[in-house]
Amino acid sequence: MIKLQNISFDHCIKCTICNVYCPVARVSLFPGPKQSGPDTERFRIKSPELVDSTLKLCSNCKRCEIACPSNVKIADIIQEAKWKYLKRRWFRPRDLILSRTDLMGKFATLFNSIVNFFTRRSIVKFFLYLFIGIPYQKTLPEYENGTFEKHFYKNYPDQNKFPDHVVFFHGCFVNYNNHKLGRDLVKVLNSLNVGVNLVKEKCCGVPLIANGYINKAKKNAQYNINSLSEIHEKSNFKIVSTSSSCTYALKNEYSNLLNLDNSAISNEIEYITKFIYDRFESGNIFKMKPVPLRAAYHSPCHLERLGGVIYTIDLLKRIPGLDLVILHSECCGIAGTYGFKKEYYKLSQDIGKDLFRSIETANPEIVITDCETCALQIEMNTQFKVLHPVNILAMAVKE
Ligand code: SF4
Ligand code: SF4
Repeated sequence: MIKLQNISFDHCIKCTICNVYCPVARVSLFPGPKQSGPDTERFRIKSPELVDSTLKLCSNCKRCEIACPSNVKIADIIQEAKWKYLKRRWFRPRDLILSRTDLMGKFATLFNSIVNFFTRRSIVKFFLYLFIGIPYQKTLPEYENGTFEKHFYKNYPDQNKFPDHVVFFHGCFVNYNNHKLGRDLVKVLNSLNVGVNLVKEKCCGVPLIANGYINKAKKNAQYNINSLSEIHEKSNFKIVSTSSSCTYALKNEYSNLLNLDNSAISNEIEYITKFIYDRFESGNIFKMKPVPLRAAYHSPCHLERLGGVIYTIDLLKRIPGLDLVILHSECCGIAGTYGFKKEYYKLSQDIGKDLFRSIETANPEIVITDCETCALQIEMNTQFKVLHPVNILAMAVKE
C-alpha cells in the first residue's frame, strides 16, 4: 500500500515556510525540514547512502507540518527515514528506560517514596548522566503511590448514574505521575453529567516511536485500537484524553506512521477541551465560581498540529476572574524524551529560551499548558507552577 507521507514530498512547492517554523534549525546546524524532508527523500529512495545523519536532530515537534501549505507530511517523512537509514546501537539502556513508560511506571508506583527519594538526589542524577546519558540538570518526574486505574475503581464506583458517558484514555502521565489531573477530569465531566469509564490500555507509543522501537510501538497501538474499538462498538461512547500527544498519536500517527488501521476510532477520539467545548456550545455548562489568578497559557506543538488550541483558549476565557495571557506560539524544546538525552540537552534548552523569557515577562502567578512534558520543561526553567486546563476548569466548578 502506498502511504500518503511516502508520496507527499511530491507536493512540496519549495516555499521554505517550514524552515522558518523549525525550532531545531533556528538554533543548530540542522538543515531544516525542507531539506531533510521532501528535498532529500527523493535521493534516499534511490540510495540509502545519500542519507544525511543530521536527520537525527529533528525532534518530531511537527511545527513544520503546521506551517506547510501543501500538507506535506514532513515530520513523518523524517521520522521514517531515521528508522530506516540511521544506524543505532542494539542495546540502548537510556532509550529503553525512557520509552518503557508502562514498565517503569508500574514498578515505580509500587515503591514511589523510595524511587522519588533517590531520583531527587544529585549523586543519583550524576550516575544517571555518567552511565546512561540522562542530563543531570533535569528534574525527573515524580511517581504516585499506586496507579490511577486502581484509585479510580476504588473511589468512583458510581459513574453509571450519569446519563452520558465517555471512555477516558488516561495515558501514562495520569496513571503513574499525576492522579490529580485524572481526579479533576472526573470532577469536571461529572459536573457536565458525563460519567467516566476506563478500558484496558497501554502506553500510546509516542516515546517508543521517538526512540525507534517500532515493533513494540505497533504492538501497543494495536492493543489500544482493539480495546477502544471494542468499547466504542458496544457503547458508542466518545474517547477523550488529557494528553495532546497521546491524542495526536491515537488519531493520526497510528495510521500515518505505524501503518495500522485505526479508522474505527480515529474520529471518535477527542482531546478533552474540544469535548468540553462542544458540551458548553450545546448549552451543557456547569456553574462557575471565580478563579482569581493571573495565568500565562502556552500552546503545545502537538495540540497546535491537532488544531485544538482554540478550544482550550475558549474554555479558559470563560472562567470568571482568570486573567489570561496567551503566550506567543513557541516550542518549549523538550519534545517528549528528546530533552532527556545528554546529546540534545543544550539544543533543547536553546530552543526553549524564548518561551521561558516570555513567561518571565508575562509575570503570571501560574502557567497553563495541555502537555505533560511541556509542563516539566517550564517548571524546570522558570519559577512558576504549571497546571493543565482541566485543573483550572475543576477549580472553577461551583459545587
Ligand atoms: S518536526 Fe520539528 S524539528 Fe523536525 S523538522 Fe519539523 S519543525 Fe523541525
Ligand atoms: S512548507 Fe511544505 S511546501 Fe513549503 S517548502 Fe516546506 S515542505 Fe515544501
